[in-house]
Amino acid sequence: MRRLRNVKIVATLGPASNDYATIKALHETGADVFRLNMSHGDHDEIRERHRIIREIERELDSPIGILADLQGPKLRVGTFANPEEELVEGQSFRFDLNEAEGDATRVCLPHPEIFKALEADATLLVNDGKIKLRVVNHGADFADCVVVNGGAISNRKGVNVPDVLLPLAALSDKDRADLEFVCGLGVDWLALSFVQRAEDVEEARALVQGRAAVLSKIEKPSAVKSFEEILAVSDGIMVARGDLGVELPVQNVPPIQKRLVRRCRAAAKPVIVATQMLESMIESPMPTRAEVSDVATAIYEGADAVMLSAESAAGDYPIEAVQTMSNVAVEVEGDPTYREIIESSRVAKRESVADGIVAAAREIAETTDIKAICCFTQSGTTALLTARERPRVPIIAMTSLRGTARRLALSWGTNCIMTGEVTRFKQAVVNAARSARAAGFAGAEDQIVVTAGVPFNVPGTTNILRVAPCDESLIFASDPE
Ligand code: ATP
Ligand code: MG
Ligand code: MG
Repeated sequence: MRRLRNVKIVATLGPASNDYATIKALHETGADVFRLNMSHGDHDEIRERHRIIREIERELDSPIGILADLQGPKLRVGTFANPEEELVEGQSFRFDLNEAEGDATRVCLPHPEIFKALEADATLLVNDGKIKLRVVNHGADFADCVVVNGGAISNRKGVNVPDVLLPLAALSDKDRADLEFVCGLGVDWLALSFVQRAEDVEEARALVQGRAAVLSKIEKPSAVKSFEEILAVSDGIMVARGDLGVELPVQNVPPIQKRLVRRCRAAAKPVIVATQMLESMIESPMPTRAEVSDVATAIYEGADAVMLSAESAAGDYPIEAVQTMSNVAVEVEGDPTYREIIESSRVAKRESVADGIVAAAREIAETTDIKAICCFTQSGTTALLTARERPRVPIIAMTSLRGTARRLALSWGTNCIMTGEVTRFKQAVVNAARSARAAGFAGAEDQIVVTAGVPFNVPGTTNILRVAPCDESLIFASDPE
């Protein structure tokens, strides 16, 4: 589906967006990638959402990305009898190992290791830090707390214990089972929560075995410290500000976000800025000015994608939230200051033939009246390198691999079009011209830039750049084989 913006939108699905009509409307309004959060909802629900997305994809004949987000070693409370309970400052509240449904006085916290490691006066934070409790008394299977900052608590909200070092494995048994399940279903991206070091990513990668691209969520101080090593072994990154802002002083998050976004662009790997982007839209059709500014900032910084969490999963205005992000994106990207920022932060370091070709493609496209850069790509690398250039003209990624097209749905400015197997360059140029016209990027009188690697279907061979007319008779008349 052709968009009028380059930054991509990721929308988390949940109870507010489970049905065909809503998911389709979310996609049509602007969601390019859907996130399935394995922390919420069982396998049947996930399977059904996945089926609906693929059905919509088939109908619209346009690739849609699916990102499955593994819970990781995140502590979460159990479930409650009521939809939510309000914890009030000064009241006492107990966490325990009793699996019975929770109420206003207690809830299950199914992690025995946390009770062992707790200390008196330790702080517990619930729901990305919104509720704060202090431990008064604790034993092997309970912790009695006093509420310091109150708020609403509900099913499976996350718990952080910032003062206490917890011994946690990178992937729980649930994560391993979920990983197999979603790889079996067929997802394009697998997000790993609470990554601490590169080895955590490699462990997951060994299990994924190429069935999905692997994205690391940066939400632990240790991941910030080991970021370069983690980036090197990841296909993409999420700046997961919810937990990051709990694990670190909240004012540390913006500089980290800026640095990570830049580093990812330099590495030509997609980066998502996530959490609380339009938080007030969970309950209101209008965002706050600060939220609009936050979305705009991420786009000015050059992020590949911005993400909705509860706004689209559990809020009252999922479609409006996507529309808001889309409107902000169109406005920011039309601002000359955006171009200035994006161009002044372009990495100058170019090492390979492919780096040179994508840079040349941008230069040519921007200095003459070229309507699109069409790159033939199998692994997706050439499209990622082209996206890193952040060209002014649209990028069309042409691939015969559906998985590549779907993965690139997360990548800045990349419009993915499926093409049949291509073996000759002339055929590639004809396909590119047809696709650019059919998708409305160019007319018969226009020109495009085509990049490809010959021989075809050998990864890492990008070596041709051609300025081509969109009129097929001209291609046939003028082009060599
Ligand atoms: P993570 O740390 O992975 O982001 P999260 O608990 O913050 O986990 P989000 O996907 O960010 O989850 O969504 C924010 C909130 O929206 C959740 O805490 C939950 O209350 C609600 N939510 C999201 N998805 C679902 C779902 N599938 N079922 C029920 N509630 C959901
Ligand atoms: Mg999180
Ligand atoms: Mg979240």
